[in-house]
Amino acid sequence: MPEPFSPTHAYICHVCGSDHVVRDAWATWDVQAQLWVLDTLFDHAHCHQCLGATRMERVLLTSPVTFAAPDRHPSDERPQ
Ligand SMILES: [Zn+2]
Repeated sequence: MPEPFSPTHAYICHVCGSDHVVRDAWATWDVQAQLWVLDTLFDHAHCHQCLGATRMERVLLTSPVTFAAPDRHPSDERPQ
């Protein structure tokens, strides 16, 4: 039976557009599963491309490996 269409997303760095971004989190050991499982997800994000803190943008995937570039507005640009 075919799966109903559901949009998929990626998260990208708001500075460089890379999807090589991570968030701070706590993992807890699940004795039954014998795995570390996600317990708490924090807001702090890090970009491995920029090598620093970032804000992530959620973008719609247009294929399994590509995503739509977010709309940019001049008012979004902030001096560094
Ligand atoms: Zn970045």
